Amino acid sequence: MKLYMPTLVYNEPGCVVAHGKEICALGTKAMIVTGKHSSRINGSFQDVIHILERENMPYVVYDDIEENPSVETATKAAKMAVEEKVDFFVAVGGGSPMDASKAISLLAKNPEYIENAQTFFYGGPKLDWYPIVAIPTTSGTGSEVTPYSILTLHDSHTKASIGHRIFPNIALVDAGYLRTVSYAGMVSTCVDALAHLVESYLNTNATFYSRLYAKEGLQIWGRVKDKLADENAFAQMTGEDYSLFMQASVMGGIAIAHTGTSLPHGLSYPVTYELHVPHGKAVGMFLPAFLKNYADMDGVNTVLNLLGFDGIESFEQYMKMILGPVIIPEALWERDVESLLNAPAKMANYPFEMTAEILKSFY
Ligand code: NAP
Ligand code: FE
Repeated sequence: MKLYMPTLVYNEPGCVVAHGKEICALGTKAMIVTGKHSSRINGSFQDVIHILERENMPYVVYDDIEENPSVETATKAAKMAVEEKVDFFVAVGGGSPMDASKAISLLAKNPEYIENAQTFFYGGPKLDWYPIVAIPTTSGTGSEVTPYSILTLHDSHTKASIGHRIFPNIALVDAGYLRTVSYAGMVSTCVDALAHLVESYLNTNATFYSRLYAKEGLQIWGRVKDKLADENAFAQMTGEDYSLFMQASVMGGIAIAHTGTSLPHGLSYPVTYELHVPHGKAVGMFLPAFLKNYADMDGVNTVLNLLGFDGIESFEQYMKMILGPVIIPEALWERDVESLLNAPAKMANYPFEMTAEILKSFY
């Protein structure tokens, strides 16, 4: 049994500004990796600029990370990092900029692979990367504490985790940055965190340690779940509620760092690629069926109890209510099921036998 969490995590208000010196000790020139808009609106971008300038740290900005970042985007940013002689990365945003920064850092450190980035990401030698600071502004992916970098592969019309395990060096977690997330954005990202907790708890690789994090996270998520019930409840969110969702997301990240995710995540990738359904919603739509079909009902009941649901039906109702419908065309669904059944790594995380027939009933 292994407990491995090499990321130094600070989870407190104002932690970016408070830990500026530690960030700047990681290198001599930084690249800020972020999305197009949101980090400038929620204040996280300004906080990073403030500490870099205060510490006289040179930096460049790559602010063109799209949702579900692609191999091409990571390659483009890595080229810029090499040209600019960057030697550490500060990722600011949701899972997209954080995941992208891991791939960018790896490629920038090994520029001889830039022309064959996809092959390097998905099967190349395990080489070193530059230090990474991750500053999450959504309470969903937990990417700040996971070794995963999930990129979009346009040639295979899906998304997949690169073959390298890259933990950020420092995670600076400040729930204050969540204040600008819309209701739909909070629902989707928080459901992603919920899925991490559930899929990690009910997982072949689950251990005493991973379950400690998953259980605590499920209980915390359950305490605040009513705040996502509708827009009115959401409007009543307090600072404490945001902190709890953020805490649950970090717990979920630490849990999946040890176990990986399972079938709902595996099924979600083609749905997101083809139908542009946000990651958390695409995963969450499969959670009720995942629980219903799970062979160990004691495990399922523990999950439901920790979340504060009195049974699978009320869980299903709640999920339908907050997520709304998703229509998957039949041909896409067939391809989705088929490709998951042929993905040994994902299937291995599911502890029981899974047939095409059962998997098809997930939607
Ligand atoms: P995201 O794709 O990073 O961001 C979604 C949208 O939310 C973007 O438009 C973004 O704006 C906006 N946004 C981010 N923070 C905001 C804030 N504080 N206020 C208002 N808007 C905000 O969303 P995500 O769900 O966090 O990340 C999803 C990605 O993470 C997927 O690619 C998924 O596969 C991956 N993922 C990774 C792991 C892992 O372990 N590494 C686990 C699960 C999922 P901008 O466009 O300005 O950025
Ligand atoms: Fe996820």
